[in-house]
Amino acid sequence: MQTTKMKQDVKPIDCSHYINGNYVPSKNGQTFENINPATEEVLGVVAQGGKQEVDQAVTAARKALKGEWGDMPIRQRSAIVRKIGDLILERKSELATLETLDTGKPLWLSNKIDIERAAYNFHFFADYMTSVGTESYQQDDIAIHYAVRRPTGVVGLINPWNLPLLLMTWKLAPALAAGNAVVMKPSEETPMTATILAEICTEAGVPDGVVNMVHGFGETGAAITSHEQVDAIAFTGETITGSAIMQSAAPTLKKLSFELGGKNPNIIFADADLDDVIETTMKSSFINQGEVCLCGSRIYVERSIYDQFLERFVEKTKALKVGDPFDETTNVGALVSKEHYQKVLSYLDIAKEEGGTFLTGGKASDMEKGFFVEPTIITDLGRESRCVREEIFGPVVTVVPFDTEEEVLEQVNDTHYGLSASLWTSDIKRATRLSAQIEAGMVWVNTWFLRDLRTPFGGMKHSGIGREGGMHSFDFYSELTNVTVKL
Ligand code: NDP
Repeated sequence: MQTTKMKQDVKPIDCSHYINGNYVPSKNGQTFENINPATEEVLGVVAQGGKQEVDQAVTAARKALKGEWGDMPIRQRSAIVRKIGDLILERKSELATLETLDTGKPLWLSNKIDIERAAYNFHFFADYMTSVGTESYQQDDIAIHYAVRRPTGVVGLINPWNLPLLLMTWKLAPALAAGNAVVMKPSEETPMTATILAEICTEAGVPDGVVNMVHGFGETGAAITSHEQVDAIAFTGETITGSAIMQSAAPTLKKLSFELGGKNPNIIFADADLDDVIETTMKSSFINQGEVCLCGSRIYVERSIYDQFLERFVEKTKALKVGDPFDETTNVGALVSKEHYQKVLSYLDIAKEEGGTFLTGGKASDMEKGFFVEPTIITDLGRESRCVREEIFGPVVTVVPFDTEEEVLEQVNDTHYGLSASLWTSDIKRATRLSAQIEAGMVWVNTWFLRDLRTPFGGMKHSGIGREGGMHSFDFYSELTNVTVKL
């Protein structure tokens, strides 16, 4: 049995709400425990917010939209947005440690992806916001039409637990760049880095009331999404929750941006570079314990290289080290919570019942404590298998052989998800042809998770509504007024 050590030079924090520039407890003093998923120890307590705290936060945000923030010249606002990114980097080690304590992911990953990219979100939008324009049309000698941009207003930012700081900043940076005020709701499983982010915003010069945060679960999210003074909701998380949020936001007709679940295919043709394929498939399958909405959890391999692919993929997967997130050599850490761990294990039972063959894993890992699951490769599952169709959100992939382009395309699109796909071939014509036919918001050709923040990010079908990134984020976080001047 292995055990997990906790890195002790950064202490976990208790999490209060952040309203109008101050940390505040809940009115009724209620809290809940925050659990370390790698040790099952209590990290601290978190304030349990409800309607009252959300109302206070929304009132502060609405007031802050005017005055100093509303009147601020764009270059000054851009400098503040940039400074938030700088301060995140200054506190990188502390933030990375807290992220790992909260999520169970390896510390090297928190450092390399979560915190670095969180800072870059602010640096990117600090630059981008200074060059954003609007449309203008001259209509012969009759009129000139031009659009004026203004902030959307008070925006609710609701985020999941898999990439807590990264996903919160992916929304907060453009929201601030476009001049909005926000109420953030981090996941109850991973509240620590967002709590620090709130104070970083104030330190960077964001006026009080512009950035607010309410913690909680059960009723907190709905109190934000149904609040009549909230103008828009940006949500990342499960598809079914997106649907519940839509219902809750419908009476007040809020603007919505959803990045929802995925069951993303990796499609590997025999003419692809197999070394590249294997290296990237390891990441797209198991990085962050498979808890990334973009993970390629359905792998389709052309039959002529199926055995060769599996041999190499299985060998590499068996070599992955599961365990202590603070050990630099760990590849796969703990799943985020007991509830999620049980959900992932239940899918392994389903796969057994469905007649799947386990080439690796298939069980919990050999750790004394914590929610660790071994990286699992399953074959011999039919296309109706729940493990092939449903989002498991853990270190579990299915591998299926295919014979023709038409056949694989049909299987790839036979899902209500449509987030991303990773397509592997050296035939550029085939890559172009298939990319246009795969029903997904993002198709990577001979790569995976390669991002440029100017590009549209998001899913189609049940994987999302709208796109984030560059101008797409700006359009969501601002409203346009068209002005027509008669000549
Ligand atoms: P939930 O969908 O239960 O909750 C996510 C957030 O949404 C919480 O902050 C919750 O707050 C809020 N929320 C839930 N219902 C409403 C509502 N009606 N109105 C407003 N806000 C609401 O997600 P979990 O974190 O429990 O994860 C569940 C599953 O989702 C996982 O097992 C995983 O499979 C999948 N998942 C997918 C992700 C993705 O990006 N595709 C990311 C993370 C998880 P409150 O409790 O206060 O309502």
